[in-house]
Amino acid sequence: ATKRTVRRKTTPKTRQPPTLTSPDKLLFPDDGIDKRELADYYATVMDWLLPEIANRPLSVVRCPGGIGAQCFFQKHATPGFELVSRVPIEESDGGTEDYLVAEDAASVMELVQFNSIEFHPWGTHIDDIERCDRLVFDLDPDAAVAWKDVVAAARQLRGYLQQAGLESFVRTSGGKGLHLVVPLAPAAPWERARAFAEAVAEATREADPLRYVATASKKLRRGRIFIDWLRNGRGATSVASFSARARPGAPVAMPLRWEELGKVASGHAFDIRNAQARLKRLKSHPWAGIERIRQTLSA
Ligand code: ATP
Ligand code: MN
Ligand code: MN
Repeated sequence: ATKRTVRRKTTPKTRQPPTLTSPDKLLFPDDGIDKRELADYYATVMDWLLPEIANRPLSVVRCPGGIGAQCFFQKHATPGFELVSRVPIEESDGGTEDYLVAEDAASVMELVQFNSIEFHPWGTHIDDIERCDRLVFDLDPDAAVAWKDVVAAARQLRGYLQQAGLESFVRTSGGKGLHLVVPLAPAAPWERARAFAEAVAEATREADPLRYVATASKKLRRGRIFIDWLRNGRGATSVASFSARARPGAPVAMPLRWEELGKVASGHAFDIRNAQARLKRLKSHPWAGIERIRQTLSA
């Protein structure tokens, strides 16, 4: 593996979170949620969010004018960041680009200061970028699919993964669906991760073609759930657990215990306001133990 140099403009001692400018700017105008409230949310969940994104290449959704104006998905480092680190990554076209890396709370808060609402890491760490340490199966239901059928799909997919010897973890996406996350330790080469994810999605579709599709076509999806396995390629991203979404209501992607899934009403049941109460009630992380799991894909 290539040894990568992370580039930082500051030393650890000087890393203070930046001053929040325009704290009253309404990022979610219909909900009356301003930049200060978003920053307070991220400060509250920081210890839960950081392990999800730290030392992974990171893309962000930035909305300088709030979610009612133009937002953009930022993959590459741009000038201006003092606390966010940069890591050079070779892209498929042969070029090399600097990617964003958040290493600590100060860098996350700098991203928020730059109006980042969503955090989307790669399924890999920067010290081992050619291998995947988290598979993501993204369940994308067509609007006509009832929520209980999305829940049933998640449970069915969990069962298939168990048959392959793999434990999985579930979260709401903060949008329409659910994500199943499969930790891989040791990590697997991207080619294998991608091929495995596609095979699982295809087998699931074959078992119940009235319910599932495994290709991105919107036409085929009518009334069905797309098992989006395309999150599992080198350079693909998925929203991080605890990330807010740039959508009305300020929903968040929320990790769940499998036993809780039946009590959750939708993919956007949690938002930055009710998430904090939930996290206070929890005795441990809903995915507790995920970092200790040893499981991988056989060749
Ligand atoms: P939902 O439950 O509503 O589907 P989701 O987060 O799963 O929520 P998707 O549209 O299924 O949303 O997934 C899109 C994924 O594609 C995101 O998770 C993101 O990481 C990735 N992505 C890659 N490029 C972009 C982009 N330009 N804009 C938005 N997302 C992008
Ligand atoms: Mn999705
Ligand atoms: Mn998707």
